[in-house]
Amino acid sequence: MSRRTKIVATLGPATDEPGVLEALIEAGVDVVRLNFSHGSPEEHQRRAQAVRAAAAAAGRDVGILADLPGPKIRIEGFAQGPVQLEPGAAFTLDTAHPADAGTADIVGVAYAALPRDVRAGDHLLLNDGLIRLRVREVAGTQVRCEVEQGGELAARKGLNKAGGGLSAPALTAQDRKHIITAVGLGVDFLAVSFPKTGDDMKKARWLAEAAGGEPQLVAKIERSEAVENLADILRESDIVMVARGDLGVEIGEPALPGVQKRIITEAREANRVVITATQMMESMVSQPIPTRAEVLDVANAVMDGTDAVMLSAETAVGRHPVRAVQAMGRICAGAETQDPPQRNVQRLDSHFARIDEAIAMAAVYTARHTQARAIVALTESGMTAVWMSRMDTRIPVFALTRHEITRRRMALVRGTYPVEFTPSALDGITAATEAAACLRRSGRVQAGDRLIITKGDFNGPGGTNSMKVLHVPEGD
Ligand code: PGA
Ligand code: MN
Repeated sequence: MSRRTKIVATLGPATDEPGVLEALIEAGVDVVRLNFSHGSPEEHQRRAQAVRAAAAAAGRDVGILADLPGPKIRIEGFAQGPVQLEPGAAFTLDTAHPADAGTADIVGVAYAALPRDVRAGDHLLLNDGLIRLRVREVAGTQVRCEVEQGGELAARKGLNKAGGGLSAPALTAQDRKHIITAVGLGVDFLAVSFPKTGDDMKKARWLAEAAGGEPQLVAKIERSEAVENLADILRESDIVMVARGDLGVEIGEPALPGVQKRIITEAREANRVVITATQMMESMVSQPIPTRAEVLDVANAVMDGTDAVMLSAETAVGRHPVRAVQAMGRICAGAETQDPPQRNVQRLDSHFARIDEAIAMAAVYTARHTQARAIVALTESGMTAVWMSRMDTRIPVFALTRHEITRRRMALVRGTYPVEFTPSALDGITAATEAAACLRRSGRVQAGDRLIITKGDFNGPGGTNSMKVLHVPEGD
C-alpha cells in the first residue's frame, strides 16, 4: 500500500514464459493490457484466462484492458525488402500502387483518402518520425514528396502527418470485430485508438453495449484533433490515455510535455481517470535498469497527477519484464512523497448536481480536517471513490464493494484500493462497523484509527447519501 500510482503492463511473448505473469502480479501490476494490434483472438483469450487465474490465486483484483488497433495508416510493402531513402530524393506515396511492389521511388498506401487529406508543403512522417517527407504535389492517386530526412524504410511502417489531420475514421471494420472479441473475454477496459471527437467514443460504447458488455472506455489521445476536442472526448469517456507514441509524432516533441500536463490536469478536473503511456522505461527492453531520463519521466508523470503509468514493449517483448515493473513501482512510490498539484480540496464554489458527489467531497473535506487514517467508500459503481480520489489528499480511499467488476475498475484509480465486502445489513451502524472490522482484520487499518465512511441507505449505484466518522473498534 506504499504506492498510490497504478501500473499497467502490456502482455506479449515475454510474459507468456512460465511464471512471468505470476511474477508481474506479485511485483504489483494493477491492470494488464492486451494489445489487439498483435496476436490472434485465441492468444488474447488464453492470456485473459491466465490473468484471471493468476489474480485469483494471488487474491488480487487485476483489471484487463483491451487496446484496439484503430486506423493506424501504414505504407504497403517493398518488392525487395527494406529500401534506403536519401535526403533530397523524390519519393511517391500512391494509393493505387500494388501492395508488395514498392521501390526506393514509390510505395503503396492502403488509405485511399490520402491525396485528399494532404497538400503541397505538408510534412509526412514515417516509422514514428524517423523518416520525414515534404509533399511537393498531389496528382490523382499520387502524393509526390521530397525526402527531407532519410533512412531505412521497411514494409508496413506507420504514416502520420505533422500537425495532424489525416482523417481516417476511428473505429475500423477490424475494430468492430475486436470489440466483440474483447467483450466476449469480459475485459474491464476498452481502449479506442485515434478518436477525434466524443462521438467516436459514443460509437464505441454503443458497439460494446450491442456486443453485450459495458467495459469502461479509454480514449487514447494520440492525434492533434483529439487534443483540440479534449473536453468533448472527456465527456464521453471514463478514462483517457496520454498516448505519447503517436501523439509525439503528430504534435511534435516541443509541444508534448505541455500537452501531457494539460491532459492529466483536465482529466482529473473532469472527474476522469488518466493513464500515461509509451516509452516510459524503453531502455529496459534490453537493459536491467532504467536510464536517469526514464526515472525522471515516470516521476514527472506521477507529479503531474497521473493515475497510472504504462509499460508497452518493456513487458510485452522485453528481456526484463518483472524488473521493469519493480523499478517503475519504486520510482512511483518515491515521486509520491513530493507534493502533487492539488485541486482546491474545498471546491466551495462548486455546485454539485448529485447528492453522492457532494457526500464524496464532504468526506474528503472531513478526512483532511480530522486527520483521518482513511476514507472508506461503500460503493456499487465505484463513482464515489473516483470523485474522492480526484483530490490527491494522500489519504487512502478504500472502495468496499461486493461487485468484482467495480473492484477491477478501481485497480486503475490512484490512491484507491478495492476491497471485497458485503455488509450483513444495510443500516448505517451495522455496515460501518463491519466495514471497519473488515479493514482491521486484513491489516489495512488498526484499532483506534479514525475512518470516514460513506454509504447509501439502499442498494444500487448513485445512492450514497450519508457519511459517518468512526474509530476502528478493538477486535479479536
Ligand atoms: P500504441 O498506442 O502503442 O497502440 O501505438 C500508444 C501510443 O501511441 O503512445
Ligand atoms: Mn498509438
